[in-house]
Amino acid sequence: MRWEPIHKPSRPPDPAPNLADYATERGRFDWAEARRALDGLPGDLGLNIAHEAVDRHAAGPRRDHVALRCLDRHGGRRDVTYGDLAERTNRFANALDDLGVAPGERVFVLMPRTLDLFVAALGTLKHRSVLCPLFPAFGPEPIRQRMTLGTATVLVTTPTLYRHKVAPIRDRLPALRHVLLSGGPEPAVSPAPGDGTGRSSPATATPPAIPEGTAQLATVLGAASSDYRIGPTDPQDMALLHFTSGTTGTPKGAVHVHEAVVSHHATGRLALDLHPDDVFWCTADPGWVTGTSYGIVSPLVHGVTSVVDEGDFDADRWYRVLEDEGVTVWYTAPTALRMLRQAGAELAGAHDLGRLRFVASVGEPLNPEIVVWGQETLGLPIHDNWWQTETGGIMIANYRAMDIRPGSMGRPLPGIEATVLVRDEDGEVVVGYDGRAVEAEDDQQGELALRPGWPSMFRGYLDDEARYRACFVGGWYRSGDLARRDAGGYFWFVGRGDDVIKSAGHLIGPFEVESVLLEHPAVAEAGVIGKPDATSGEVVKAFVTLRPGFEPSDELRLDLLGFARRRLGTAVAPREFAFDQHLPHTESGKIVRRLLRARELGLPEGDTSTVQVTR
Ligand code: ATP
Ligand code: MG
Repeated sequence: MRWEPIHKPSRPPDPAPNLADYATERGRFDWAEARRALDGLPGDLGLNIAHEAVDRHAAGPRRDHVALRCLDRHGGRRDVTYGDLAERTNRFANALDDLGVAPGERVFVLMPRTLDLFVAALGTLKHRSVLCPLFPAFGPEPIRQRMTLGTATVLVTTPTLYRHKVAPIRDRLPALRHVLLSGGPEPAVSPAPGDGTGRSSPATATPPAIPEGTAQLATVLGAASSDYRIGPTDPQDMALLHFTSGTTGTPKGAVHVHEAVVSHHATGRLALDLHPDDVFWCTADPGWVTGTSYGIVSPLVHGVTSVVDEGDFDADRWYRVLEDEGVTVWYTAPTALRMLRQAGAELAGAHDLGRLRFVASVGEPLNPEIVVWGQETLGLPIHDNWWQTETGGIMIANYRAMDIRPGSMGRPLPGIEATVLVRDEDGEVVVGYDGRAVEAEDDQQGELALRPGWPSMFRGYLDDEARYRACFVGGWYRSGDLARRDAGGYFWFVGRGDDVIKSAGHLIGPFEVESVLLEHPAVAEAGVIGKPDATSGEVVKAFVTLRPGFEPSDELRLDLLGFARRRLGTAVAPREFAFDQHLPHTESGKIVRRLLRARELGLPEGDTSTVQVTR
């Protein structure tokens, strides 16, 4: 479907798309040439992500261009230029040297989205130590697990996060040598006489205390030099350690190398259509790979201005950020878009989004209904794209200049070969006598797979070589997701391997069912699972969150049942409905169907370390 752009009086003319014609770009794309679009370290000393993201701009005409526009929770805004960012990250890299930290050691950041997070992240990469960002919403146990698995030697965090989440487990982190605290020390608490609550009051507060075994980041940076020369960096040196979202089970630690920056640059150009004058906003937290690859690296490598918002989701606030900061390219996730839809068109209409020219989404299937909502409410289609922590960068995308087929993830990036592999009854990929995996026909469902070799591909799961090796079959990397490809080369998401429902001989993808339910006026969000059944094998059960103004009732349940049957047929429509205003989501915003299933069946909930448990 070709969307007609709606008239937007305040919008300046859009730049020409970077990818004007899919077939042409695919035909001429070459990774070696993509690498040549970057600088490399001066003196032929290799390839370093932070040099490409910061220093090469600071040394050129973009020195005074705003790199980061940091918005705090209270409405404050601070612009940081590329030149300024280069000096701050130099200080951080020097500080690591001063502390005796060696390249290759692991630096964890557990921080809200503030300037210091970016300084620590990029300074770590300059220093050639390994960056591991964690969600600040994690509790002590997931933090401990990840820091132990990743052998954290440095942690950058805030006084509050330290006190609540790290101090209680510090004695169980023997490798942790340095804790740097960002932001002023917390006011020390001294009990107000007689009130017994222990709460501080201005009259009784004693001077701030710095927790034992920590140092102030500001002090350490202040003492460090602002000159730094990045040492030789092999493109294959480990740069990032990223834990997966934990949607299907215990998160895995994916290892990425400096060469990944070639993918971050190429995909920012082709899939996100970044141009030098863009104001870009990626809403993801760096604790999720999207917030690192596209929240930190990709926009900076392109030298654009990147909006960094410390605040949490709030529909009105988000529209204000889009409007006030003049965001032109916006990268977000389906859950957020579903919540904006739930907040109503009136709120959207109260904001002038005239500068916005390109919207992309990742992380979960993007329901066609949301693509249509984008066109109607934002005046722009939403471009779904697909990738994983393991792939390090976007692999399949809808491009600005290409027709969108709503509900489809799009087509593989130039330089990426993707296919669908046939699976047997046990979910194993079928391999022929020649040792080659069997590829599916058009429209046939199977496992989405990629030909290994792109620069941002993970190089292993930390401490789990066997699991890593099991991801490869017959020359392909198996994604674990089920998909199909149509005759036009567009890929359609069916479900995660584990989420697919087998009912009376049908294989049902939860996404298909959820997307139809979202078309019902009462439904804000839906999670669909298979429930064991003696006759059908499994029956479909749907958990639905209602939009404002709707209340659970038997009448509504029957209405939903009828609606789903009419649209999906009796074989695929949910047999059961439950109303649930608090579907479990991962920190990165994905519906955790395995948890819905475990709760329904009274099974153990498994690893819930990344889940916002809502009951
Ligand atoms: P874990 O591997 O720990 O279970 P996870 O797979 O959710 O967690 P991520 O690497 O953050 O961790 O997510 C990648 C997965 O998200 C993909 O494999 C896919 O299942 C889903 N996904 C990402 N983008 C899309 C999309 N556009 N459409 C459908 N699903 C998507
Ligand atoms: Mg995964």
